[in-house]
Amino acid sequence: MFHEGKGDAGVEEGAVTARRMKRSERVSDQLVGRKILLVEDSKTYATALAARLLSNYGIEVDCCSSMEELRIALSAAGAEDYGLAVADLNQPGGPHGEALDLLISNRIPPVVFTGSFNDDVRQSVLAKPVPDFVLKDGPEALDNVVSSVVRLLSNRQMRVLVVDDVTSTRELLAVHLRKQLFNVTKASSGETAITELASRPDIDMVVVDYEMPGMNGVEFVRAVRRNTDFDRLRIIGVSSAERSDLMTEYLKAGANDYIRRPFNEEEFRWRVAQNVGTLLHIRQLREKAARDYLTGLYNRRHFFEEGPRLVAAGHNSEDRKPMSMAVMDIDNFKLLNDTYGHEIGDEVLKEISARLSRVCGDRHLLARLGGEEFGLLICGLDPAGARDYCEEIRHAVASEPVHTVDEELNVTISIGVAEVAERETFDNYLNAADQFLYMAKHAGRNRVMAENEINAHRDVA
Ligand code: GH3
Ligand code: MG
Ligand code: MG
Repeated sequence: MFHEGKGDAGVEEGAVTARRMKRSERVSDQLVGRKILLVEDSKTYATALAARLLSNYGIEVDCCSSMEELRIALSAAGAEDYGLAVADLNQPGGPHGEALDLLISNRIPPVVFTGSFNDDVRQSVLAKPVPDFVLKDGPEALDNVVSSVVRLLSNRQMRVLVVDDVTSTRELLAVHLRKQLFNVTKASSGETAITELASRPDIDMVVVDYEMPGMNGVEFVRAVRRNTDFDRLRIIGVSSAERSDLMTEYLKAGANDYIRRPFNEEEFRWRVAQNVGTLLHIRQLREKAARDYLTGLYNRRHFFEEGPRLVAAGHNSEDRKPMSMAVMDIDNFKLLNDTYGHEIGDEVLKEISARLSRVCGDRHLLARLGGEEFGLLICGLDPAGARDYCEEIRHAVASEPVHTVDEELNVTISIGVAEVAERETFDNYLNAADQFLYMAKHAGRNRVMAENEINAHRDVA
């Protein structure tokens, strides 16, 4: 067995590209670090495939060029090490697809990548839990197998809800989807499916049958689309009914696609794949639109979209969580720009953003509001806790100089923080925090000014 990516200059270079891509594009973040097993005796294909997967997606590849090496790889590694395999049908030591059976018995789903594929072989391969097969039939073969691997690994992270009252057809849909490595949740009626959706926010797609007692498929889609919480969901309607208007009904209700029974497995697979592809594409675009170009933090638009939602959820939940709003601003940044130039200013902005991001994590909502000003919606801390937390953030910025290409610069921030208590407009919370920021600046900068502190002083006075 040989490991691509160790001591191979081309692949090392690929790893660097993967890291760069990860930061700049966030396209394949979720696939970086995944590992697949490649069973391929052609060194040319093996090397090219491993390099492509690593450099473009950060997916690691362990290669075996014979049955013997495959056995060693499987005994050395736990099967759970590999999310997927790519295997040629015939290997030295395994001329009749033995590699496939060995992988399947180790519960590693194999994508078949092969040059020979007559109808008999095709039928026998399709009868096995093989998620995809790709022919080595031309220059696009490598592209095809790469996109198959990427698609299947990303399917592993998606959940599909199957809604059908008939057990046998529901199970069949589930089997097809699991073969494509999706996580599957099942529901036997429209009503239970809606409950599932409400309790499982990780559901990405629904495949729903039409004829069901109670709520039919179209009524289900309409009900789901009325709830804006589910607006990021793909829905595929399925029906065996011979009604030609059903497709229109589904689409009008808000379904994204329609499949008529009986369908063949490949048609089903590709319709689902197309919908997943669109979903991922939309998510990438949304993610890009929510980010600030320079710093990679969330931008003002996202802050104003997501912030009010979080505040409303906090106010409406039974165990009402305390929240605070902070506005943070770099001190004397204009002077820094004027002294060292705009490019150094940009570098400082990026470094300070990275520090803020490290301290704030995912628990709170952080965004660059504009210029050198940042908003932070602090969730789950009482006013005193929020103040201490802001002090921690201030310290994280001030305690270590920023290393730029030419200079080591001491940078500080001032923070104003106000409690999100009464139900007010989101703007009002920000305005309140802004006033305390103004006071922090006025009092000499590099400090936190919090509403509760000032009120406490007032009470004492
Ligand atoms: P204070 O301590 O009162 O906040 O003073 P300040 O100089 O930081 O505040 P002021 O609002 O006067 O200046 C902000 C400066 O930030 C002015 C503007 O040129 C600069 N700035 C805004 N956006 C960017 C950016 O994207 N890159 C760089 N390099 N500078 C920026
Ligand atoms: Mg400033
Ligand atoms: Mg400012």
